[in-house]
Amino acid sequence: HAGESAIEAHALGMRYRRGWALKDCSFRLPAGRICGLVGPNGAGKTTLLSIAARVLEPTQGTLSVFGAAPGSADSGRTAFLAQDKPLFRRFTVAETLRLGRELNPGWDQRTAEDVVRAGDVPLDARIGSLSGGLRSRVALALALGKRPDLLLLDEPMADLDPVARQEVMGTLLAETAERGTTLLMSTHVLAELENVCDYLVVLSGGEVRLAGDVEELLSVHTVVTGAKEGE
Ligand code: ATP
Repeated sequence: HAGESAIEAHALGMRYRRGWALKDCSFRLPAGRICGLVGPNGAGKTTLLSIAARVLEPTQGTLSVFGAAPGSADSGRTAFLAQDKPLFRRFTVAETLRLGRELNPGWDQRTAEDVVRAGDVPLDARIGSLSGGLRSRVALALALGKRPDLLLLDEPMADLDPVARQEVMGTLLAETAERGTTLLMSTHVLAELENVCDYLVVLSGGEVRLAGDVEELLSVHTVVTGAKEGE
């Protein structure tokens, strides 16, 4: 996918009954990047991810995934890890993964099981009996089992303690790096993305305030302080 766009948004707008959640959003996310979608509560992060996952249709403008309509055959495989992590509480972990296998052509059982095992999640435990951290891990296993080209994660670190955060992030990065998966993950805690993301999209009030390479965004600092690049 080198040089390709994983996501391109042009003048994207989304209106709910109470008003606009996204306004005139345009940005490009190059393929293979690990991108943070940062913004305060209500900024429009979930709305943007939902459009990319074809859960919502935009009111205005366009958003393409690998140059095609979200969810279409040409847009590659997309996995969406929603914030509420909808899993069947009465299913066991093993049954949950089996359902994943049945619903997803090209399912990668080894990766899904590895992700679950790395978190010491018992395969025979019911989803409803698991802690929030372990449930997140099962949801992540389901998402990675799909072998997505684009992985959309809505606040994946919320409800995790710092140790679980590090573990889940480590697993996520290790499992996706090799395949060149494009990640887009939302957060309202910028510090969570430190040393993780190489691309940033900053949303606030439904508008894109900043989008680009983390390195380039940081080099703005050197311009401001008078140093030239390479010095
Ligand atoms: P959070 O971190 O709180 O999830 P967010 O950045 O993900 O925030 P969104 O959930 O996309 O933001 O919400 C953007 C705006 O749209 C908010 O003002 C929210 O109240 C509103 N909104 C979101 N979903 C709906 C909906 N289904 N119907 C009406 N308004 C909605």
